[in-house]
Amino acid sequence: MDDSLYSKIKSGEPVFWRNPELSEKPEFSFTADDIKDAEERLERFAPWIAQRFPETAAAGGIIESPLSDISNMIEPLFRKDHVKIRGRLMLKRDDSLPISGSVKARGGIYAVLKHTEELLLNAGLLSRDDDYKKIEDDPIQAFLRGKKLAVGSTGNLGLSIGIMGAALGYQTSVYISREAREWKKELLRRKGVRVVESEKDYEAAVAAGRAESEADPNSFFIDDERSEDLYLGYAVAAGRLHKQLEKAGIVVDGKHPLCVCLPCGVGGGPGGITFGLKQIYGCAVRCYFAEPTQAPCMLLAMMTGKGSGVCARDFGLSGITAADGLAVTRASELVFREMRHNLDGCFTVRDEELFEYLRMLDRSCSIRIEPSACAGFSGIRSLAEECGSAGTLLIWATGGGMVPEAEMAEYLRQ
Ligand SMILES: *Cc1c(COP(=O)(O)O)cnc(C)c1O
Repeated sequence: MDDSLYSKIKSGEPVFWRNPELSEKPEFSFTADDIKDAEERLERFAPWIAQRFPETAAAGGIIESPLSDISNMIEPLFRKDHVKIRGRLMLKRDDSLPISGSVKARGGIYAVLKHTEELLLNAGLLSRDDDYKKIEDDPIQAFLRGKKLAVGSTGNLGLSIGIMGAALGYQTSVYISREAREWKKELLRRKGVRVVESEKDYEAAVAAGRAESEADPNSFFIDDERSEDLYLGYAVAAGRLHKQLEKAGIVVDGKHPLCVCLPCGVGGGPGGITFGLKQIYGCAVRCYFAEPTQAPCMLLAMMTGKGSGVCARDFGLSGITAADGLAVTRASELVFREMRHNLDGCFTVRDEELFEYLRMLDRSCSIRIEPSACAGFSGIRSLAEECGSAGTLLIWATGGGMVPEAEMAEYLRQ
């Protein structure tokens, strides 16, 4: 046990932690076939998605985000430092994912589609060879209108599942925690989604949704703390990124490592992406999770080895942060187990720093993302040497595409 690291964490200071239990070869309990299965499912739904969400039509109904070179941000980032990165600095633009403007458009939407396909196949209303545009037909619509979906969320997962659930015809309920932004709740209500507000944190919102949904046989609860489907939906990102890196002429191998910084809440998003990337690149990719200093649930899960048995509050931390998407005090047990020997490390970031990166990215690259999505930038200094000369640093921007202008102006002022 590293006492000095624990005392820093307890006092809310930022830390950088490398996983001493990292194994030499990635080992997961899921396989490449599981990812392929998820990819194929998304392809089956693509024609319907393209029709129902015209913003995805150009990409044939595949929900994907661009990869941007943000070398312009290197200078402002390292202005005060001696170190510098000489390799490339890239940003994965999940803030601009269509439909819901955050990384949750991967796992969240996938989980809804997976459940929908299962329901329709079992009911004999759909077969895998059908054109899924058939979902718009009356018998299927009537069937789905009688079904319920529920989810607990700090906001973005609720948006993804709420929007997709409503588009499919479900009666959808989102149990939303205290940090959720007002505009996210309003947007959901406009879509006809039932928003159940709570004064409590994310863990409590999930528990409330799970309990109510379990009592109703007609309702399906998308469980962000336990869902394999969410995890696999996120993992699909890796193969897509692989193609984008190749196209950009970026080599990833033993001599040219790829360091990826991923903002982490409960763990499903960054965990699924890490799983997917390690399937492709093995140890040439190094993945690090970024968490708020007040809610470092995965860091504590990994450091103590206790997984979801520990909570940030056990260490005197509040769980309160401006990074609403990361305001989670207890990690997913499923993701912890998958990451235990596969994740390279974790680091934490103070709220004030998030707003500095948010402004810097806007000024240097004219890209606007939400505070949670900026968390990855704070790992750059610690990774500059490891990845900075021959390798590539990639920051995963996880959200911000739907933030209203007035709200964004406020973020930029802070
Ligand atoms: C949800 C979210 C994350 C993290 O995903 P988890 O699956 O909760 O770990 C990161 N950034 C944003 C903006 C999010 O909404």
